[in-house]
Amino acid sequence: HRGGAEPHAAVRVDLRAIRDNVAELRARAGAAEVMAVVKGDAYGHGLVPAARAARAGGASWLGTAVLGEALALRAAGFGGRLMAWLSAPGEQWIDAIAADIDVSASAIWTVEEIADAARETGRMARLHLKVDTGLGRSGAPEADWPGLVDAALKAQAEGLVNVVGLWSHFAIADAPRHPTNTAQVAAFSQAVEIAQARGVRPEVRHLANSAATLMLPDTHFDLVRAGLAVYGLSPVPDVAAPADVGLRPAMSVRARLALVKRVPAGHGVSYGHFYVTDRETSLGLIPLGYADGVPRHGSGGDGGPGAPVLAGGRVRRIAGRVCMDQFVVDLGDDDVHAGDEVVLFGDAAAGEPTAQDWAEACRTISYEIVTRFAPRIPRTYV
Ligand code: PLP
Repeated sequence: HRGGAEPHAAVRVDLRAIRDNVAELRARAGAAEVMAVVKGDAYGHGLVPAARAARAGGASWLGTAVLGEALALRAAGFGGRLMAWLSAPGEQWIDAIAADIDVSASAIWTVEEIADAARETGRMARLHLKVDTGLGRSGAPEADWPGLVDAALKAQAEGLVNVVGLWSHFAIADAPRHPTNTAQVAAFSQAVEIAQARGVRPEVRHLANSAATLMLPDTHFDLVRAGLAVYGLSPVPDVAAPADVGLRPAMSVRARLALVKRVPAGHGVSYGHFYVTDRETSLGLIPLGYADGVPRHGSGGDGGPGAPVLAGGRVRRIAGRVCMDQFVVDLGDDDVHAGDEVVLFGDAAAGEPTAQDWAEACRTISYEIVTRFAPRIPRTYV
């Protein structure tokens, strides 16, 4: 809270939506298991509460990028499968192995680091080998794949690792018909065959993200890794809104108007005066800014409408520059008062602007909109 009995602003998270979204993804995944991706503080929704809701919806796996978040889940009492896939040289492998967290390697030196840590702890590491089928990010290049597989099998023969997973990640699944998707599936299938021919018996082969889970059923293999869809946002905004694919947004961002005042026509608004009132109007001050995670790109007045805000039952646009702690909306003649609640984004079904609307106004993706709200804004769980 920044003073007052009620918070000026809050990120509200509907945990039932997360649970129901995961249940929907489970149904769509068929025989494949679901990993709820809870990296980035569960895409800004709060790691532990979101993970609990995802488990309740049937996510048998939870996945993070950085190890610290997986360790935090274990420390919070989560049993079952946890995977952390991003590491740096000298990673805290001992902690990962001790906490029974599935880890990943894209290079032989990583396998060696993990094997050394396993030797030290006296426990086997659960290892997933990652192949780069076209994203060009992590994963072994195809030419290095047999060597990586052999290094892992050598460590397995020494009782240091158990190669439980083979995996890769899509580059363009948000465009489901893009030919790169087909090429990546073929490359992945081939990499799996190569690994199996050399002696790997994977428990899980996994490739699909949210978009592929929803749109590309041939890519589900044994496990799907869904992030954005867990939170009820559409990973294919050009193709389907959340409701079209059975999802409900979990996050809404709400604030109370800090001030409402009447100004004449021709009044400049906020730094730089990029917005000037074209009539007598009311300006509303919203106590959230870029330090809270409201993108400055949501500013109105220069090169596009500002991001939308629901105020007094009507969608209004940000007027002028978003500042560090506050921004302004032009309320016209609406009967809206200081203390009234406004909604930056939430659920389209409730007439609220969406995270996708914000993403478009800010020239980014909904992932970035929801993950960037700062810890200084209280999360309220409903
Ligand atoms: N798998 C990996 C390796 C990821 O990095 C991510 C997130 O970007 C996901 C799965 C989940 O992606 P999405 O949120 O599009 O479902």
